[in-house]
Amino acid sequence: MTMRTHSASVIVPVPSNIRLTNEKFPLDHLRHWYLDPDFAVLAPDLERLFRTLDISCTPSAENEADFILRMGSDPVPDVWRMTVSSSGITAEAGERGGARYAVDALTQMLFASVLTAGRASALLDGAEIQDAPRFSWRGFHLDSARHFQDTATIKRVLRVLAHFRINVFHWHLTDNQGWRFAGKTVPLLDGEGTWSCGQYTPDDLREIAGYARDLGIRIVPEVDVPGHSARLLAKYPQFACDPAAPGSEWCLGNPDSLEFLKRILSELMDLFPDSPVIHIGGDEAETDHWEKCPMCQAAMRERNLHSMRELENDFMVRLSRFVAERGRSPMIWGTCSGQVYPPDTIIQVWLDIREPLKIAAHGNKMVYSVHNSLYFDYPANLSESWEPWMFELSERGVYMTDPYIIWPEKVKDFMLGTEACLWTEAVQQHRVMSKIFPRIFAYSECAWSQPERKSYADLVRRRELLEASGLTDYLKGL
Ligand SMILES: [Zn+2]
Repeated sequence: MTMRTHSASVIVPVPSNIRLTNEKFPLDHLRHWYLDPDFAVLAPDLERLFRTLDISCTPSAENEADFILRMGSDPVPDVWRMTVSSSGITAEAGERGGARYAVDALTQMLFASVLTAGRASALLDGAEIQDAPRFSWRGFHLDSARHFQDTATIKRVLRVLAHFRINVFHWHLTDNQGWRFAGKTVPLLDGEGTWSCGQYTPDDLREIAGYARDLGIRIVPEVDVPGHSARLLAKYPQFACDPAAPGSEWCLGNPDSLEFLKRILSELMDLFPDSPVIHIGGDEAETDHWEKCPMCQAAMRERNLHSMRELENDFMVRLSRFVAERGRSPMIWGTCSGQVYPPDTIIQVWLDIREPLKIAAHGNKMVYSVHNSLYFDYPANLSESWEPWMFELSERGVYMTDPYIIWPEKVKDFMLGTEACLWTEAVQQHRVMSKIFPRIFAYSECAWSQPERKSYADLVRRRELLEASGLTDYLKGL
């Protein structure tokens, strides 16, 4: 026997506003559904939902429907509202993002209701729900360079992310251990990798981009330079300071480096025409090769710079200008080495909780990914194996994360939102879902919900109920 809970009190992430009523709508009365034609992309989701839960509900005209999802007058992205009454379910959104989230909320309510009451007597309780996101950037990053994931796995990940209202997929496509997109500019780079093999063809990328678009997810593709480039430089050693021992860093003093990188980025932008933001890396480059390189030394002097870190900054600013000139927004990992970028460059904070103060002072927008709060490769508990650089990252720890930290007045105008990062040095393809679940429930409330609506104890209650209902397996496509 399971305690019945009000069916609107199961939704993850918790909505901004819910008014509960005493009305009941039995699932047996759910016979017909109607979608606004602009939301037709959601029809397969509804069909699968009703089929899975054994609900005989078919499309109809609006005036005959018991579930109606109509176009609202409020075009604000991702906003949705829903009323459940004894006569049916009516939802409204001003665009597709909000419409999808209404269907996802309905999905959770139906799964929970069937679990707690049994299919024969399942019902939805009356409610009026209004919802809007706290942040416009609700990101998830996946490293496909260290361990490759095939197209089917990427699609499963995207489907899960969309359900939890994640709207940015930051895709780490290159690193020391692998180069994952096939391109005309770099024909020598195949899918060979240090720990796994595989590469996305242009057709794979187009297919995934289309899939993400239909789910309301923007892809932020990343080519990580000037460090993290051992795989490329092994095949193209002429762009390293020492071609005999190329290492991981591009030669910053060789003018051909920048030109070759521009060609690579042009091709990447052509492969992702819908991506408004292009990530160019910028993290963890070592200066050793540059210090010993005559070309890097000469470039530093010519540009009146005083250190290799300044030369690196200059190189990345030039690359970011190229991205900006092509009409995209450049994005770069933040560092603590004093780098400063033009204000149109988005900075991803990952290393230090004090970085947001500095970034806001420089006028850059930022995304919050500080590692010990949001790196999903870190162990969820210490029964998992871990690497020396990792901290324990419990569900509770994720839940407590707030991108404003303790400086809301100083940073909030610059904070676009959050991004959880799944690096894969230690995560093979078959463990990807086990790293996403169950912390994605907690993360979705960090990214979406207002702080005053959050309660960890209540999140655990809702998460356990939804997991028991079969929702997790349903989302994974099992
Ligand atoms: Zn050099």
